Amino acid sequence: MDPVLLLWYASNLAASDRIQYIPGEVLCPRCLGRDIVPSLPRGWRDALMRKLGKLPRHCRACSKRFYARPGPIEAPPRL
Ligand SMILES: [Zn+2]
Repeated sequence: MDPVLLLWYASNLAASDRIQYIPGEVLCPRCLGRDIVPSLPRGWRDALMRKLGKLPRHCRACSKRFYARPGPIEAPPRL
């Protein structure tokens, strides 16, 4: 598939209203679960992300650990 077309498809997929993002709500980037709990910061990476305004979170459904800004999310976190 053409890379540009693929990019267009991906951006459309991200903008799909199948997934409703509620401002302030954090969704798991892997399973889109809402059972998200704060994770204890550990190591230099967490310290760095904290400086960037992102806090570590943990999904209790699939055990995925990721970073999210406190408050409204503009875009899913990049992995
Ligand atoms: Zn998950």
